[in-house]
Amino acid sequence: MRAWRKSVGHVTLVPTMGFLHDGHMSLVRRAKAEGGKVAVSIFVNPTQFGPTEDLSTYPRNESRDLDMLRDAGVDAVFIPDVADVYDPNAQTIVETTELAKVLIGKLRPGHFRGVATVVTKLFNIIRPDAAVFGEKDYQQLAVIRTMVRDLDMDVKIIGGPIMREADGLAMSSRNVRLSPEDRAAAPVLARALNEAAAMAPTGVTASRLRSHVRATLEAEPRAQVQSVDIRDAETLETISGPLTRPAVILLAVKFGQVFLIDNRVVYPKEQA
Ligand code: AMP
Repeated sequence: MRAWRKSVGHVTLVPTMGFLHDGHMSLVRRAKAEGGKVAVSIFVNPTQFGPTEDLSTYPRNESRDLDMLRDAGVDAVFIPDVADVYDPNAQTIVETTELAKVLIGKLRPGHFRGVATVVTKLFNIIRPDAAVFGEKDYQQLAVIRTMVRDLDMDVKIIGGPIMREADGLAMSSRNVRLSPEDRAAAPVLARALNEAAAMAPTGVTASRLRSHVRATLEAEPRAQVQSVDIRDAETLETISGPLTRPAVILLAVKFGQVFLIDNRVVYPKEQA
């Protein structure tokens, strides 16, 4: 990877955990639009999984991923082994101290430390000029932007919109692990977000919006609601009262053992 990097000019990186779907490929297309070369990393990063999470069952299909990336005209693929990424004596971590503690960080302690550390390592190994991350992982994108700002990393961070299945379910590698019944129920996340987007311009308060979304999710008996949050779309600060600025609604819901997230930015009247 280092030798390849030295021989080429502008590089845009798309970091992934593999088992690729059109959400990932949309980021590849966005990366290509930057001009220059596109590199994709595939690494199921153990340090971002908690001890009771789905590291061992995380879906993988390397040969299919490679075919998809070849067909998409990606210039380089980086698929390291865990032992190549983590020195057994490693003791350095990267953490966005405040952002890592809230929202998903509260449900998954240590998750964003794992993400920030591995992305820093990928940036140092590949030395991309730009990197593309999905808005699907809204807080992750905020963590990366904060880290890049705070540590003066010379990488342009680009966000890509959420790609969805025809019934609204946000594409995710984890969707294949849903039972048929759970798969049929899972579009409730998108439905709840769509309802909220329609309600937002009516002058509704943030807490009213939040309880409406929660009620929609809880009406689906298969959904185990983990969290429903409404935050300022830019700062991720908590908000209450009527919306005055764009807000993001962040959902985390389990179906069986499968942890799904989704989000949508909603706008008050003036900006709708
Ligand atoms: P993952 O392989 O799940 O770690 O995701 C790799 C990248 O793809 C991350 O930047 C995700 O935010 C992004 N991504 C995952 N699902 C989607 C989706 N449905 N639409 C857009 N981007 C996505």
